[in-house]
Amino acid sequence: MSTNFEFIDIKRIEPETKPISARKVDFGEIYETQNIDSVKEQSSRCLDCGNPYCEWKCPLHNYIPDWLKLAQEGSIQEAADLCHETNSFPEICGRICPQEKLCEGACTLNTGYEAVTIGQIEKYITDKALAEGWKPKKYIENFSAQTVSIIGAGPAGLACAENLIRRGVNCTVYDRYSEIGGLLTYGIPEFKLEKKVVLKRRELLEELGVKFVLNYEVNDARMSEIEHKSDAVFLGLGTYESIKGNISGDKKDGVVEALPYLVKNTEYLMSDEDAESINFSGKNVVVLGGGDTAMDCVRTAIRQQAKSVTCVYRRDRDNMPGSEKEIKHAIEEGVEFLFNSQPLEIIGNGKVRQLKIGQTKLGKPDSSGRRKPILVEGSEKTLEIDKLVIAFGYQADQQSFVSKNDIRVSERGLIALENKKYKYQTSNPKFFAGGDMIIGSSLAVHAIAHGRDAAKEIIKFLKT
Ligand SMILES: Cc1cc2nc3c(=O)[nH]c(=O)nc-3n(C[C@H](O)[C@H](O)[C@H](O)COP(=O)(O)OP(=O)(O)OC[C@H]3O[C@@H](n4cnc5c(N)ncnc54)[C@H](O)[C@@H]3O)c2cc1C
Ligand code: SF4
Repeated sequence: MSTNFEFIDIKRIEPETKPISARKVDFGEIYETQNIDSVKEQSSRCLDCGNPYCEWKCPLHNYIPDWLKLAQEGSIQEAADLCHETNSFPEICGRICPQEKLCEGACTLNTGYEAVTIGQIEKYITDKALAEGWKPKKYIENFSAQTVSIIGAGPAGLACAENLIRRGVNCTVYDRYSEIGGLLTYGIPEFKLEKKVVLKRRELLEELGVKFVLNYEVNDARMSEIEHKSDAVFLGLGTYESIKGNISGDKKDGVVEALPYLVKNTEYLMSDEDAESINFSGKNVVVLGGGDTAMDCVRTAIRQQAKSVTCVYRRDRDNMPGSEKEIKHAIEEGVEFLFNSQPLEIIGNGKVRQLKIGQTKLGKPDSSGRRKPILVEGSEKTLEIDKLVIAFGYQADQQSFVSKNDIRVSERGLIALENKKYKYQTSNPKFFAGGDMIIGSSLAVHAIAHGRDAAKEIIKFLKT
């Protein structure tokens, strides 16, 4: 019998991680599988506080206390049903959301007792239900003969497709890659999210009736064809223009950008053929940046058996944008961090040999609200390096079919959602958009929320 005070005696326990020595040579996910008893016990820590801040802080507003209760009772299939009311891919969010900044960061138990392990339980519920043969159900079999085209099979496009098909709307998803998932597949490494998790979703979406057209780069001519045969179009193209640091010497051999490095490594691991990776085995590697992408690069280099891996970041640890748990994992795996360090120059005769850095101190907040790093004069020093990865993030890239279809963009190149009648509708009423391309490089959970909500708006639009 639950007393709602279980949190006093039961401590927060996360699933075990694999031994560090194994993690450093293996690209697989690092957490061991939880058992049902531990899931029930950890779920019972939820206070059911009556004002679930966790729900509000979750961008999807998941019904967290309700599915924790079902998990506590061992009703996993019912919990999976409830998870899917709000979230198209709960097992993915459970793995990759920065929970400490979202749901768990808002948990009432943080006042001295440590948050409920919401993300890990969400992952367990769906993994377990799917392993038992659970499948998402349609709400309506057939809504009409209308068709929606979705460009981009990232989380935004896939969530839009899942929500449309479950409401009886036919949809086709187009993507230039040979597999679905966008950055879930090609950006985020296996040790955070194994590819088989995303592949399972392809199987489920296809069973529901979603059609995929892959290896299909949408250009002006193809967009025109797609537009003619669609009643509405959703764009979830992401943001792929890498932010350059304009560091002197960044064209030298041995300097690589983060995404090509991660994508090549993923393609190499996924492919049976002779795909080539950018391999840092035996090299002294420096990664510039402090976000999730930088953390993924340092941990990939560790697994490639680099000689040393250093992350250079110009603010301090508290101001790192990356997820706290990923920084912790990187430190455990042997990554060295140089905080308050600004890259100044890449030195080498055609080929990178050294990196000059300077010490910084944090000044007043800038226009973004974050404290500005100020270089301390005379603090320069050099690091001996073989490879340098630039991981400063991504911004919108311009695809010509956007402007050709009269879709307006903001000064930052993001799709402007100016039409007030339907949320997520662009200046061209037939086109909706979501994900990174409307808010800039962000989180998968935001993209899923946009895709879900845009699907509902598209259905309202189709009804008129
Ligand atoms: C290295 C890295 C690590 C990350 N780690 C995390 C994390 O731990 N947690 C988290 O929540 N988020 C993380 N993110 C962010 C997250 O992956 C993105 O916010 C999310 O994937 C955005 O979803 P999206 O659908 O908007 O775009 P994307 O995932 O970028 O998908 C866009 C899709 O559109 C396709 N496309 C684009 N143009 C065309 C075209 N012309 N024709 C056909 N197809 C096209 C692309 O091929 C792609 O498949 C990470 C991002 C990176 C780069
Ligand atoms: S989707 Fe993300 S933020 Fe929401 S409950 Fe799951 S892990 Fe937390």
